[in-house]
Amino acid sequence: MDLRSGPRLAIVSPCYNEEEVLPETIMRLSGLLTELMDEKLVAPDSFLLFVDDGSSDRTWPLIVESRRHNPLVHGLKLARNAGHQQALVAGLMSVRDRIDCAVTIDADLQDDPAIIREFVKKYKEGCDIVYGVRRSRATDTFFKRTTAIGFYRLMEWMGVNIVFNHADFRLMSKRAIDSLERFKEVNLFLRGIVPSIGFRSASVYYDRTERFAGTSKYPLRKMIAFALDGITSFSIRPIRLVTLAGFIVFLASLTAAVYALISKFTGNAVSGWTSLIVSIWLLGGIQLLALGLIGEYIGKIYKETKRRPLYIVETLLLPEGQEAAAPE
Ligand code: UDP
Ligand code: MG
Repeated sequence: MDLRSGPRLAIVSPCYNEEEVLPETIMRLSGLLTELMDEKLVAPDSFLLFVDDGSSDRTWPLIVESRRHNPLVHGLKLARNAGHQQALVAGLMSVRDRIDCAVTIDADLQDDPAIIREFVKKYKEGCDIVYGVRRSRATDTFFKRTTAIGFYRLMEWMGVNIVFNHADFRLMSKRAIDSLERFKEVNLFLRGIVPSIGFRSASVYYDRTERFAGTSKYPLRKMIAFALDGITSFSIRPIRLVTLAGFIVFLASLTAAVYALISKFTGNAVSGWTSLIVSIWLLGGIQLLALGLIGEYIGKIYKETKRRPLYIVETLLLPEGQEAAAPE
């Protein structure tokens, strides 16, 4: 790091069909980065990297277009929609050899870019990871707010090491990014992995605002998949719950058996079918639940053993003369 001009910073932003917000995002992030450079908080060769996560709209052409007049803008285009987390990892891995630290920020301007200044200050104080933490969720919809709070609580309860109310708005030093590579799993759940890396870290608080334009790219389906991924990647508590449920049912059936025996010997045995039907359904249900959960873990093992590439780079736009082969 050049002490006179500050660290080389990359601001990495994943974009999936973000044509409505992108011009504004590029403008605001460029403005901020220019200010940081002028203030000598970051090095003059800092830059922005927009990761097009297989968009089907004009996201990529907008990135390419803005490079004509904005030298700060670089781009990475993934060959298909690999998902938010994968887009982030792809971006970080492509920039890590050119930077001292990188900030990841959503393209929709819900996270306040001005806070990046605080991130850099914390980095200069010696932090390797700086988390952006939402102070309030006043502008989120009721649905988003409750599901998000439920998500963090559930994660905590499942024993996943996670920073409450922190999404993927954070700064990481080069060595923190490099250490991500040590995690060989296919599904990188960054919110769980980053806190488990270690290093000195800090939190910076900010107010989350509404999406500047466009609609959420996280429908309920993706949210559930994300939460399930987080849980099954980091916690075996669901399996313990099944074991616990099995134990309780076992105790209950023991009691029922004792009761049935006593009834038989006292001559009160009424062979009702209700109890039979109820127990069949109950046991069937529990077995199905257990199978489902075990299946979830087997699915995870299956995915991990396949070792599919996280992403495939289609194009990597770099400063003039460096348009070399795309890194893997
Ligand atoms: N995103 C992505 N790939 C996806 C879904 C989302 O790169 O498959 C990006 C999206 O463009 C945005 C960020 O991830 O920059 C967060 O998505 P969004 O704002 O839609 O999520 P929300 O804030 O509604 O949870
Ligand atoms: Mg958003």
